[in-house]
Amino acid sequence: MIIDVHRHMVVKGTVQGDYIRGAQKSFTMMYRKSHHVDISDKDFTDKVVRPLIDPNGDNIVAEMDKAGVDKSVIFGVDYGLVYGESPMNIFDTNKHYAKAAQRHPDRFIPFVAIDPRRNGALKHCEEMYHEWGMKGFKMHPGVGYMPYDPCCFWIYEKAREWNIPILIHTGGAPATRLNWEYSCPRHAATAAALYPEVDFIFAHCGDVGWWQEAIQAAMWMPNVYVDLSLWQDPYVRLPKPRFYQWLRDIIDLAGPEKILFATDAPYPNLMCPLKDWVDAFRKRETDIKFTDEEIHLILGEAARKVLRLK
Ligand SMILES: [Zn+2]
Repeated sequence: MIIDVHRHMVVKGTVQGDYIRGAQKSFTMMYRKSHHVDISDKDFTDKVVRPLIDPNGDNIVAEMDKAGVDKSVIFGVDYGLVYGESPMNIFDTNKHYAKAAQRHPDRFIPFVAIDPRRNGALKHCEEMYHEWGMKGFKMHPGVGYMPYDPCCFWIYEKAREWNIPILIHTGGAPATRLNWEYSCPRHAATAAALYPEVDFIFAHCGDVGWWQEAIQAAMWMPNVYVDLSLWQDPYVRLPKPRFYQWLRDIIDLAGPEKILFATDAPYPNLMCPLKDWVDAFRKRETDIKFTDEEIHLILGEAARKVLRLK
């Protein structure tokens, strides 16, 4: 089974103008480098991103089918306290994701994206869990809180009570007002240490700057996992032996049962199509040795356990 533990839908009104402008600057730059093309920021948004608008996730399912991905964990982003509310507020956005999961029940697993400091957040999450079938939390400390700040504790307590995981952003951010310091894996590691019964997935494995910190946390704590989203870019840009040596190293250090396949679609899939990213693991053009068991765990078996799938 192949599981993508980190992806977003492209739905109108779910992100704010400020974020879109920052993301556009960063992702257009990456797109130009990956494809060796000259495209303006505006054309990237209009011609590359806009056609991806897919309110019900039907195109995502088609993309997953083509790549052989069985399930995707899907969630929005809660940036409202930094940029002001998006046209579709986060409560409605979370419900929108839950509805997409109801439409594709065997394919999507919805998490609830929430800033713990929000008014009404606890009540909303209880409703999302009990009535809408959400299966985990998504947090982005870059919006302005330390992962181990007491303002977050209610989320960790609910995750413990409901026996569901937390996916927490670790790594960089687009050219926009998000705090990098709060997104260092060391801070998420401190939170994970406070709540050893709760499984934490460190999104992006700390990204290219802090992957060692993320892996260090996964080595120390049984409840810390990493997701490989955003690593498509290094895979595409670096000489292949360097990517695979890195993958070998993190498997040797943290164990394949701690490493989860992921995309952070839509943007990274524009640099590296979903099927190519799956094939980076399945087909592996490298002399470096990986066992089938290791790849099996990374592509889905490890996630199955974290997501409490049957
Ligand atoms: Zn993401």
